[in-house]
Amino acid sequence: MNYFLTEEQLMIKELAKKIADEKIKPVATQYDESEEFAWPIMKTLAESDLFGVYIPQEYEGLGGGTMEMCLVIEELSRACGAIALGYAGTGLGTLPILLYGSPEQKKKYLPDLGKGKKLASFCITEAEAGSDAGAIKTTARKEGDKYILNGTKQWITNAGEAEIYTVIAMTDKSRGSRGASAFMVEKGTKGMDFGKKEKKMGIRASATREVIFTDCEIPAENLISREGMGFIVALKTLDIARAGVGAQAVGIAQGALDLAVEYSKTRKQFGQTISSFQAVQHMLADMAIQVEAARALVYAAARTSDSGAKSVSKDAAMAKVFASDAAMKVTTDAVQIFGGYGYMRDYPIEKYMRDAKITQIYEGANQIQKNIIASHLIKESLKKS
Ligand SMILES: Cc1cc2nc3c(=O)[nH]c(=O)nc-3n(C[C@H](O)[C@H](O)[C@H](O)COP(=O)(O)OP(=O)(O)OC[C@H]3O[C@@H](n4cnc5c(N)ncnc54)[C@H](O)[C@@H]3O)c2cc1C
Repeated sequence: MNYFLTEEQLMIKELAKKIADEKIKPVATQYDESEEFAWPIMKTLAESDLFGVYIPQEYEGLGGGTMEMCLVIEELSRACGAIALGYAGTGLGTLPILLYGSPEQKKKYLPDLGKGKKLASFCITEAEAGSDAGAIKTTARKEGDKYILNGTKQWITNAGEAEIYTVIAMTDKSRGSRGASAFMVEKGTKGMDFGKKEKKMGIRASATREVIFTDCEIPAENLISREGMGFIVALKTLDIARAGVGAQAVGIAQGALDLAVEYSKTRKQFGQTISSFQAVQHMLADMAIQVEAARALVYAAARTSDSGAKSVSKDAAMAKVFASDAAMKVTTDAVQIFGGYGYMRDYPIEKYMRDAKITQIYEGANQIQKNIIASHLIKESLKKS
């Protein structure tokens, strides 16, 4: 399908595809098995300027937006959803600075992030605060020209690997959701530690760890925006990043579909290739429809985000839900097309199914996304009546 991408977007997509095919595909299984963070690939992405596609030119980036970020995530995820997450997680951790940072903060952090010299990480989730992000307990207490952070963030992508952490913490519990604030914390700050690397079902090459703050002192100038803006920073960040999760899901689904088509042309049963059976052909056709519909929604949400529209929340939630459900269905069907071989770890397809699952869960579980979509529908309808 033609999505009428600009020349520059096509070049970015091609470059990401080339790196995915030549550098990521050959090592994806190896990284899945070893569960190591793919630093050599991050270095390649950095040298290719891909971390800078959504960073404004005034901060030494390429000046694109959500669409460019999604194109890179999609192409990388086609080869490996886990390695792609090192890139996507940096986008998530960078967005609060991009959206709400002061000119000084942007000048200090964005050039290095855009050049891939530093990775980023976004920290909101805690053991008792997942979907209910308003229940976070991490605190940031102001003392003179410093904030002192205490608390533990859980399941943080890129934790331990990234240099820059954007952290949501409570500055005034008595104000409820208006009592949270957003901060930047640099790796190596005294009082900041990491938990053990989590062992996961899928996206195993991605790093997921706790981030632990014990009387962690940061300069007051590391506050992003104003006190009390923490959840607004987080919500706006996630609204944009969710198109990225959708893109990750589309990439994973497309990668699985490509493998299923190839396999169906070589596997013979009853004296013919399984691609000659109509039941298999229809499965492939249904998978292709799902992938394309998901891609169309993700690109539409990304374009809405880049248009400067007041809210991208409903579009991004729709794209994230549809694309992640499509990825789960398409990867499961791809395993089915591989039959028993699909269940074997010697074949690359089962990894796609394991990697797809997380896209239905993180950056707001799909049930929560449906709450967001429904609340928009009801509000829009009330406005009309
Ligand atoms: C691999 C991985 C990486 C992650 N990376 C990050 C990261 O980088 N930064 C970060 O801050 N967090 C991260 N997370 C956390 C992630 O965003 C949360 O796991 C997610 O938001 C869901 O929270 P929960 O796991 O606590 O599930 P819960 O909130 O306990 O939900 C459990 C189930 O109940 C459902 N549910 C909950 N409330 C409702 C409701 N009101 N209505 C309907 N259904 C509901 C959910 O949809 C879900 O199905 C990561 C998680 C994982 C697993």
